Amino acid sequence: MSMFEGIPVDVGVIYEGERIRRQDMHVELGGPDQKTKFELVRVKGLDVVEDGKITVVGPDIKDMKEGSSHPFGIYVEVAGKGVEEELEGVIERRIHEYCNFIEGFMHLNQRYDIWLRLHKKSFGKGLNSFNLIAKVLQRLFKSELSFIEKIQITFFTDPKRVKEMYDEALKVYEARDAKARGMKDEEVETFYGCTLCQSFAPTHVCVITPQRYSNCGSISWFDGRASARVDPKGPVFEVQKGELIDSEKGEFSGVNEAAKKKTLGAVNRVWLYTGFGYPHTSCGCFEAVAFYIPEVEGFGIVHRGFKEVTVNGLPFSTLADSTAGGRQVDGFHGISIEYMRSPKFLQADGGWNRVVWMPATVKERVKDFMPKEIADKIATENEAKTVDELKAFLKAQEHPVVQTWKEIPVEVAPEMEEAAVPTIPLPTTAIAAGGFKIILKNAKIHAERLIIRREKEKR
Ligand code: ZN
Repeated sequence: MSMFEGIPVDVGVIYEGERIRRQDMHVELGGPDQKTKFELVRVKGLDVVEDGKITVVGPDIKDMKEGSSHPFGIYVEVAGKGVEEELEGVIERRIHEYCNFIEGFMHLNQRYDIWLRLHKKSFGKGLNSFNLIAKVLQRLFKSELSFIEKIQITFFTDPKRVKEMYDEALKVYEARDAKARGMKDEEVETFYGCTLCQSFAPTHVCVITPQRYSNCGSISWFDGRASARVDPKGPVFEVQKGELIDSEKGEFSGVNEAAKKKTLGAVNRVWLYTGFGYPHTSCGCFEAVAFYIPEVEGFGIVHRGFKEVTVNGLPFSTLADSTAGGRQVDGFHGISIEYMRSPKFLQADGGWNRVVWMPATVKERVKDFMPKEIADKIATENEAKTVDELKAFLKAQEHPVVQTWKEIPVEVAPEMEEAAVPTIPLPTTAIAAGGFKIILKNAKIHAERLIIRREKEKR
């Protein structure tokens, strides 16, 4: 592997998907303990970018204490003939992939949410400087994306400078996101698919439409188009919409076919605008989870940065585990923040009229995109910390879901007619048992008796 000469650790696809536990890490960059972190790619003129230049602003890896955590920024400037600003989003998304090629270096999430760890072993082998990581990234970017002629990389670890650049990055992300707003799915013939997350979630295909951003929140329809144009054989590809099967749920024949092909038959149907039935699969890097709360028949939403437990007593991490892995889980839906700004957001489920709870910080970010009359009726952690408090709040506010509440008998009598016995359709369900994972596809569970019992809290 002469391409990585001078790099003390191995580099390759096999290291993708590698996780580094806290006790094994030498340092942590970004992540939940750090408020400011970012990765940003900007396209610049050929005369501005100095190819191969690497700058570290703040302490380098070798100056960091073992086990420590740091604010962190990766700033990549690229240039090339015909490289347009439109490509920034997709070039940026590759940082995730390429960092994960490095042995003992883990990269999670995207944009303002990145979380990296360096393994003690790799540090021990001599991976002790951002200069080495930058060299790997530069070589990979130039060999994989041949349109990049020049690339310079700056790592920020100085807290003050990270914060300055972070504020700048947020403005760039917002400008990118705003571009697709106002476009409609009905107005285009082509959607885009993305399989960048298949290394972590093998049965996941992101379907990116003008009104449905990628789960990770970093690839818009425009980004998808730009990427598929310059790299048609790459992980971002065209999806012909095909025939419209259901406009309410968002089912298209072309999307179903693409999902089937790219998941090798694991996923055959996708409903783009609902969290039920055949919801869009969830990878692992979604920005938020919409989770159904049966007691109130509405959706709660929680984003990755929320540190408390949600209204049903579970934290983001537990809800994310129930959602992730490329599965279609009825009532659990990995989404981007930008999708909440879309008129198609959970359209088939009632849209915002079906949302009952979300953290105040996310509400603030998307408030301008909710119907005016619903905003105050959706609880945050400030109004409801338990399902009982939530029920009372929704009643008092006359939230639209309250009208759907009826007394439903929870226990079904055993002497009921066979035909009336409930059958629960489960598109794909995973059961973990004795080290094996059993996957039931389109299983129908036939039960003589249905008992729903709330589990006691373990903590
Ligand atoms: Zn993803």
